[in-house]
Amino acid sequence: MRIEIATLFPEMCEAVLSESIIGRARRAGAIEVHCHNIRDYTLDKHRRVDDTPYGGGMGMVMQAEPIYRCWQAVCERSGSRPHTIYLSPKGRVLTQDIAVELSHREHLFLLCGHYEGVDQRVLDTIVDEELSVGDYVLTGGELPALIVTDAVARMCHGVLPAAAAFEDESIFSGLLEYPQYTRPEVWEGRAVPEVLLSGHHLRISQWRRAESLRITQERRPDLYAAYLDKED
Ligand code: SAM
Repeated sequence: MRIEIATLFPEMCEAVLSESIIGRARRAGAIEVHCHNIRDYTLDKHRRVDDTPYGGGMGMVMQAEPIYRCWQAVCERSGSRPHTIYLSPKGRVLTQDIAVELSHREHLFLLCGHYEGVDQRVLDTIVDEELSVGDYVLTGGELPALIVTDAVARMCHGVLPAAAAFEDESIFSGLLEYPQYTRPEVWEGRAVPEVLLSGHHLRISQWRRAESLRITQERRPDLYAAYLDKED
């Protein structure tokens, strides 16, 4: 899997993508993530990448040309056309199913908007789909691109130690996860549920399943109903 992030703030993305599990996976070569500075592709002598909106209104709009040139350079370098996503509050909202779908693609290009957004003409030219990370507006597409990258990359071969590490998680399994505990056995007068200390694998998995069902029913009746439907 190769992910390209086109942004005006590559350092912001690199800072996150160099750390922890994704950082390790990149260094080990399990995934490739490249951050591209859109400003490097402007032909403007003042390195401008935005301008005021036609028709008036507040803020600035990112210009089409630097984004298009950045995207073209990525296509030329890789010899293929990446699946191109614009992070936008107008897109379909990211879910685990969408992340799974994207994890099967070989090459993604994530375009981060900023300010008032991006000239529609370049979106119409290069973008395959728009993705939102939720019904709220952020200042830029960098955090959404990082969310997409993390959600997708952790399902790529070699990033986590085994597929079970992501398949048993909340949402992926169709349910919310049971509570987790670690040492010490008693903390601030609160003991770990006894069953987890029993070493009895069947009882432990029955307890975990019951807790998952209880929590899902309580917090996400929509997921619970869908899960029961699927089980039937
Ligand atoms: N004027 C735009 C609108 O009303 O739809 C919002 C622009 S927003 C301030 C700047 C950039 O942040 C967008 O171009 C987009 O890339 C990103 N962004 C903001 N909220 C987002 C969200 N919920 N999901 C994905 N990207 C988002």
